[in-house]
Amino acid sequence: MNDAPAFPAAPAADCAVPPGVGPSEAAGRGQREVFCGLTGIVWLHRKIQDAFFLVVGSRTCAHLLQSAAGVMIFAEPRFATAILGERDLAGLADANEELDRVVGRLLERRPEIRLLFLVGSCPSEVIKLDLARAAQRLGRVHSPRVRVLSYSGSGIETTFTQGEDACLAALVPDMPAASDRSLLVVGALAEIVEDQMRRLFARIGVGPVAFLPPRKASELPAVGKATRYILAQPFLADTAMALERRGATRIAAPFPLGVEGTTLWLRAAAAAWGIAADKVDAVVAPDRARAEAVLAAKAADLAGKRVFFFPDSQLELPLARFLARELGMVPLEVGTPYLHRGLMADELALLPAGTEAVEAQDVDAGLDRVRALRPDLTVCGLGLANPLEAEGLATKWSIELLFSPIQGYEQAGDLAELFRRPLTRRARLAA
Ligand code: SF4
Repeated sequence: MNDAPAFPAAPAADCAVPPGVGPSEAAGRGQREVFCGLTGIVWLHRKIQDAFFLVVGSRTCAHLLQSAAGVMIFAEPRFATAILGERDLAGLADANEELDRVVGRLLERRPEIRLLFLVGSCPSEVIKLDLARAAQRLGRVHSPRVRVLSYSGSGIETTFTQGEDACLAALVPDMPAASDRSLLVVGALAEIVEDQMRRLFARIGVGPVAFLPPRKASELPAVGKATRYILAQPFLADTAMALERRGATRIAAPFPLGVEGTTLWLRAAAAAWGIAADKVDAVVAPDRARAEAVLAAKAADLAGKRVFFFPDSQLELPLARFLARELGMVPLEVGTPYLHRGLMADELALLPAGTEAVEAQDVDAGLDRVRALRPDLTVCGLGLANPLEAEGLATKWSIELLFSPIQGYEQAGDLAELFRRPLTRRARLAA
């Protein structure tokens, strides 16, 4: 293992889960092409400002992270890769000893770190390096200054948004106990979105409100039987289960994408506080009117356009609902890596009748269908986008939807624009 976190400068290849090792293959549904859970570090390290993510992996993992984050080699980002060398992989070196040494040097050099995540990868799982035990051991050594947790971002087990799920689920056991009623908003959101939501909840009369993940590791929100939680992201099934094991109860709602999704999401939270929908509507009326006006302008270019989703981010269902109901687009097929019918019940109910929702589809069969259907817009991973563009199809990278603030009223127009731009660009090029 390298004794210093590495930030290789070489550009990354698209490290998709290889055929034969993804869950979809295990389910007999064929190959798929998605980034692994390490990708979540790119937005999580910006969110939890005193946390550090140490991937225990290969040079490929380091390349993926650096490329996805666009990090300069001289920057001091809050993530790195402890690279497993050939001696580690062959079992000739004691990887635990080396990991302890790497962590010791890292914490000495970066005294501001308060929370260290050891992030598992395909190689660390293949050599069965037990990072949960390593985190316990290192936690004892570096406590109380640094808390050490672990989770897996391996592409063997995860798609790219499941990295966030695994990270947040790892935080839940460390959350302090609460006995008072509170609302917990779960899912990493851009700070600007979080601030807007905090203001909206205050105006509606819902509170106190806390967010998971917090901005600081030391501000981990409390949880208990009186906690009601609402998901802001749809891919957090393990975190939801972990919160329920701590006694919290989920508020079922669609996700806060678009005007309708945001309104229903706020109404659901307000109902749990005994506040009627018309009170919510009255409070949000100006925000809603502004967002609707922006969407009406965007809809002129999008209405009637046919959209096809490959399974990638797990945001596909809420996005299809937003595009269909608020912008008049026609979802031809909505692929999603996993379909959690419990968490998605409200979204499924809002999708236009007859919408084809496909779980973990076979990418080759999906490509055949997309070529036959020739949609106006295909939402897919980076690995599929360029070949499809070369075949004359307009595409939208689904990963961009995780890096952009898209939730809430203020962002509804920006969300619509993310889908409008590839279409207008293609139209301009054709003209
Ligand atoms: S964790 Fe696995 S899929 Fe992800 S970059 Fe590393 S080797 Fe590739």
